[in-house]
Amino acid sequence: MAQASLLPEVEKLLASPRMFIGGTWVDALSGRTFEVFDPSSGRVLTEVPRGDVADVDAAVSAARDAFEDRRWSGLRPGKRAEILFRVGELIKRNIPELAQIEALDCGKPIKVAQGEMWAAGEVFRYYSGWPTKVFGETNPTEDRLFVYTRREPVGVCGGIIPWNFPLIMACWKVAPALAFGNTIVLKPAEQTPLTALRLAELCKEAGVPDGVVNVVTGFGEEAGQALASHEGVDKIAFTGSTEVGRKILHASEGNLKRVTLELGGKSPNIVFPDADMKRAAKGSMMGVFLNSGQVCTAGTRILVDRSIHDDFVGALVRATEAMKLGPALDENTGMGPVVSAEQLERVTGYIDIGRREGAEVVTGGERATELGDGYFVRPTIFTGVRNDMHIAQEEIFGPVAAVIEVDGVDEAIAVANDTIYGLAATVWTRDVSTAHRVAAGIRAGTVWVNTTGLFDPSVSFGGYKQSGYGRELGVHSIDTYTEVKTVWLQL
Ligand code: NAP
Ligand code: MG
Repeated sequence: MAQASLLPEVEKLLASPRMFIGGTWVDALSGRTFEVFDPSSGRVLTEVPRGDVADVDAAVSAARDAFEDRRWSGLRPGKRAEILFRVGELIKRNIPELAQIEALDCGKPIKVAQGEMWAAGEVFRYYSGWPTKVFGETNPTEDRLFVYTRREPVGVCGGIIPWNFPLIMACWKVAPALAFGNTIVLKPAEQTPLTALRLAELCKEAGVPDGVVNVVTGFGEEAGQALASHEGVDKIAFTGSTEVGRKILHASEGNLKRVTLELGGKSPNIVFPDADMKRAAKGSMMGVFLNSGQVCTAGTRILVDRSIHDDFVGALVRATEAMKLGPALDENTGMGPVVSAEQLERVTGYIDIGRREGAEVVTGGERATELGDGYFVRPTIFTGVRNDMHIAQEEIFGPVAAVIEVDGVDEAIAVANDTIYGLAATVWTRDVSTAHRVAAGIRAGTVWVNTTGLFDPSVSFGGYKQSGYGRELGVHSIDTYTEVKTVWLQL
């Protein structure tokens, strides 16, 4: 196995990870911890503090103090820009170390993890451009009045994030919060808390004042719930399942905090007969199996025109079987394990459901036991799927694709939209009118044409329907991280 040994900084973090509150490293007030696992081996990697209500209180109070005394928002915009840019630089300088942590914590192939760490750094670099570009407006009014608006920070933000892209998700929450002058308490997923802790340290190293970024590790029902319901939190940015998204919304009722939700998906990937078959097969394969299928935008419903169905499925299966399943730290691994024992159960459970529903497994369909105790599932493709089956309607969040036959553009759009979700869609066609008809016809926040899974910090992202609301990244994020104040002056 082409496997590098662990870097000293990684060993150091694993030896005693602690939470970051008010600029210092702390244990949970209760003294309790919980175990974090390496999905490639199923072994315990380390233990982290099990933060609960009391720790969230401490973190929110640190973030509140930092917000009220303007130690961050009061800095010259150019200074805040410089610090945020430096966080991006530090992330990039530490890619080898961060990628090892992410690979161990999450089971991501190391090469993929390195690319993601770079993308995480880009998020901070992008947002470092914003502090100097937040403008208000002057409003048209009668002569003896002067009316203008100010964009002000929302206040103390809470970020609650999932385990599938731990550092990128942390950056999606922390960078915009800081760019627009807020302070933040971040609750990473219990499965993958480690890179968020390193991010807090890099923020401090870059010059972010104490209390502006706080990280509480813990369980969703304890730390997450406490953050979402906290009266001292002005906004929650959540990414995760639709089910928990609803709980976040309920928890936010008390003080009517602002809420943005990035939730699940069951995204269609549509292949038309005029598509470049090779590109479409490889792209559809990556679109569903990247990150072991644990991607909210994963193109899990592969809608294939009846006229090309058999040829396309053949190409898709060949592309899938060419991918190497293996442990995350092995440089030759194309696809790693799923994140946890719980997720392994869930995914293999759905494979059983698919079989019982009458769909046919054409490749995969089982746990890869030859790889030991790691949580490995072979990439699995079902054919003969009807769009009303459970495997076509429910988010599996694992390497399972459902191929559905469709007939023509109108049926493809109708089936694509026949879901409670609306996060993303992919279209493969060389016909420009088909591309635009489908892009306009699909009710989803992102549509990719002849490519898939692309993201950029300057491009806004979010869902329609039960995939959530609010937009992250890009110019639209200014609306979710600022309040607009109107000032009237009688002249
Ligand atoms: P999740 O349960 O929605 O968790 C997301 C985050 O919310 C985690 O930090 C979680 O903490 C926290 N949380 C859980 N219950 C909470 C509560 N009552 N109040 C406040 N915060 C709470 O997602 P998951 O456990 O990571 O995965 C479950 C399923 O969600 C997946 O199988 C998949 O279908 C979906 N998912 C979607 C996305 C996406 O980007 N759309 C990402 C990941 C997962 P804990 O880590 O302690 O649970
Ligand atoms: Mg959970």
